[in-house]
Amino acid sequence: MKLMEYQSRQLLSEFGIPIPEAEVCDTGDEAAAIQSRLGGMVVIKAQVLSGGRGKAGGVRIARTPEEARTVASRILGLEIGGQKVRRLLVSRAVKSVKEYYLSVSVDRNSRGLELVFSDKGGITIEEAAADHPGRIRHLSLDPFGGPEAASFLAGIDAGAIGEDIARRVLGIASSLFRLCSERGCVLAEINPLSLEEGGTLVALDAKLVLDDNAVPMHPELASFRNPEEYGSDENEAREASLSYVGLDGNIGCMVNGAGLSMATMDLIKHYGASPANFLDIGGSSNPEKVVKAFSILTRNPGVKAILVNIFGGITRCDDVANGIVKARSMIEIKVPTVIRLIGTNDGKAREILAGAGIEAYSDLGEAIRRVVAFAGGVSA
Ligand code: GDP
Ligand code: MN
Repeated sequence: MKLMEYQSRQLLSEFGIPIPEAEVCDTGDEAAAIQSRLGGMVVIKAQVLSGGRGKAGGVRIARTPEEARTVASRILGLEIGGQKVRRLLVSRAVKSVKEYYLSVSVDRNSRGLELVFSDKGGITIEEAAADHPGRIRHLSLDPFGGPEAASFLAGIDAGAIGEDIARRVLGIASSLFRLCSERGCVLAEINPLSLEEGGTLVALDAKLVLDDNAVPMHPELASFRNPEEYGSDENEAREASLSYVGLDGNIGCMVNGAGLSMATMDLIKHYGASPANFLDIGGSSNPEKVVKAFSILTRNPGVKAILVNIFGGITRCDDVANGIVKARSMIEIKVPTVIRLIGTNDGKAREILAGAGIEAYSDLGEAIRRVVAFAGGVSA
């Protein structure tokens, strides 16, 4: 789950990382009022989920309330990364002497956390990697202890940036590490980390990505979720406790369990077709969830056939069958639907489905070949 800058700032500040004074608003008038309160030069910034706002015209300076109003209105008229700008951050402008890049992220290779530092901040890390590969330092962190002073200072080349500054970067890196591990971040990036005239370090921009699986452990973070991060289907599925990921194939899948969902998608591919989505209806699925799942799948015009694949355990096949029958009476399902179920109460499920004139397979291979043929795939 990606956070916007103003949300990321809230967490940085909670962990003691200095940020410039700023306020959020959504109109030109408010921007003007904030500029008056802060006084002097301000930076007005689009709050969107994508980076590269500066280049897209979403980060601009204003010196007076009038200028703030004009600049704010202009930014509010932009679309950045396919997203309309609806919110702004008006921030005290910082006089930067130097800009650094600092991030902590999950490193799957070392199964730990990795810290990245560069004295070429202000540009994206991808650009820095292309133009100044030697100026990017990667340090792997002890996932329980965080950065350790001596290896940190050697690792970021403290000699080159100055021992005193390097020690202060260490302080911020330690806080960023704590934020990352205590709030479950996949990525916590400060770019630029600015060395301000007068010598203080301040996070001028921050981008946090939280691990969706860590959010339930910190319920207060759930309110940070931005609906624009996901498609409307994904949001609707989440509200119904279904886990759904849209894909670009043409076979709609409704499966119980993430593992079986993945295996089903693999098999569809194996038989020459492509899944339109991943959809796990979860363990104890009630008929309502099945109805909801059908309504999400049938709405997608790219879906040419639907496969329901249930391996009944905790999930009872008769519940799913009732859901299918109910869905048929409530929603117009125009595409061919192939049902395969086996396991808990499958006999009962078959009776329920037969009563509604629906046939159900028990063999998965057979069911998949059938649905692939319906979708116009290769094998029958
Ligand atoms: P991004 O383009 O989405 O990464 O947005 P940023 O917030 O990082 O802004 C883009 C660039 O504008 C930064 O890399 C800075 O160089 C510059 N910038 C933003 N705010 C300030 C500020 O208060 N003072 C100075 N000197 N530069 C700023
Ligand atoms: Mn930035």
